[in-house]
Amino acid sequence: MPALTSTYAQLPERFFAPVAPGLAERAEVVAVNEGLAGELGIAPGWLRGDEGFRMMAGQAIAADAAPIAMAYAGHQFGNFVPQLGDGRAMLLGEVLAPDGVRHDLHLKGAGRTPFSRGGDGNAVLGPVLREYVVSEAMAALGVPTTRALAAIKTGTAVFRDGMEPGARLLRVAQSHVRVGTFQYFAARQDFEALGLLTDYVLQRHYPDVASAEVPALALLEQVGRGQAELVAHWHSIGFIHGVMNTDNCSIAGETIDYGPCAFMDFFSPAQVYSSIDQQGRYAFGNQPSIAHWNLVKLAEALLPVIDSDPDKAVTLAQAVVNDFSDWFGAAYLGRYRAKLGLTEARDGDAELIAGYLSLMARARADFTLSWRYLADAVEAGSARLDALFDGDAGLADWLVNWRSRLAVEGADPAEVRARMLAVNPLYIPRNHLVQEMIEAAYRGEFGPFEALMQVLSRPFDEQAGREAFTLPPEPDQMVERTFCGT
Ligand code: AMP
Ligand code: MG
Repeated sequence: MPALTSTYAQLPERFFAPVAPGLAERAEVVAVNEGLAGELGIAPGWLRGDEGFRMMAGQAIAADAAPIAMAYAGHQFGNFVPQLGDGRAMLLGEVLAPDGVRHDLHLKGAGRTPFSRGGDGNAVLGPVLREYVVSEAMAALGVPTTRALAAIKTGTAVFRDGMEPGARLLRVAQSHVRVGTFQYFAARQDFEALGLLTDYVLQRHYPDVASAEVPALALLEQVGRGQAELVAHWHSIGFIHGVMNTDNCSIAGETIDYGPCAFMDFFSPAQVYSSIDQQGRYAFGNQPSIAHWNLVKLAEALLPVIDSDPDKAVTLAQAVVNDFSDWFGAAYLGRYRAKLGLTEARDGDAELIAGYLSLMARARADFTLSWRYLADAVEAGSARLDALFDGDAGLADWLVNWRSRLAVEGADPAEVRARMLAVNPLYIPRNHLVQEMIEAAYRGEFGPFEALMQVLSRPFDEQAGREAFTLPPEPDQMVERTFCGT
């Protein structure tokens, strides 16, 4: 049994509501992530065994667990909602991993809480498996993210698109504090709580700057830098989050809340998959400006604890927020230079990157394969690459420029190719594969889930016999819309 601690539950009572996971008498384990459990110092077999399983099923709660539902607010599609909170998830406690990092253990789909509003507090199997697969794929790709530790079926049907199997996900995060957590207290003008939350987050996530002259300003900068890195990373792998509301924006810089998220197949900056995003607010190409917008909202919430003089607070916060585009730009250039096999920064790199992306957009080329196949073209032409770009004549010109840029670095072509294959994944959780996996699970077949998990655990290594996992969907396999399906 891992020792569960609850530092968050030691904050004042208005930060959360005590809760208990609902009882699922006929629950069954669907998946356990033993690798992650090991990293957290959880003994092999514990999650499947009596104690871990009974905790997820709400049948018995460990004596040292103090489950809570966290309070938060948030801007949803631009509209402020002063009270959201964990309506179907519970923070069971925290585990201190052997590497000294504290992680939240969070059970999603555990039943109603005081924050459930009209919702039933449940989750269903499809979205639970989607989050499981996509968050673990993100981790294997090296993207900061919440992780999936285990999934169970509750044994009870839940009404969504008809009746669906109820499920729960045990998820791990550096913490579940969001931009919306700060907004919750700012909206209530509870400046004491804002100060306590700022100190808590600095101690837990950013101890190096905890004693800064203005702690809240240091926090704003750390969150801004983390979001800039994160969203640049998403961009570089064609990931669309889908619901970048401020309540889904982690203070610790992790990708959180895998609802209608998707990896793009055919490249278009305007791509949207989420069925609830009618205006395209969270389209692929908008993600950097939305991250900036969310940072502004964090800044607004923090103003009272930045300085007691409102004008001074605004000036200080504005200066930090204004740096976001520089942080994003640097992170973006860094990621895309590496994707092109470049190791040095030179003038003209931004244009070279933009040139390739615009060719990709013109041909609606597959995002992932465009980068992967480019590695074949370091020295000579590549038939696979040409085919992806429908024989666009612009590609040949661009390749000449790229090769001469590589020549400036005097790099060995074999090394360039190897470097590119190490940062441009071959396997991503393609929408149609995720969809097929979910449909199979609804028929009781978990082979596709296991296969997908295995392939995605090594996204950069070509795996024999797994070619089907590399290909974009055929027209009849296309998934145009993804759903929160909560
Ligand atoms: P999300 O769209 O997952 O970020 O959730 C937004 C808000 O709605 C959060 O406060 C959730 O806790 C709440 N919520 C979503 N689904 C449910 C549900 N089935 N029951 C209760 N609350 C929910
Ligand atoms: Mg959420």
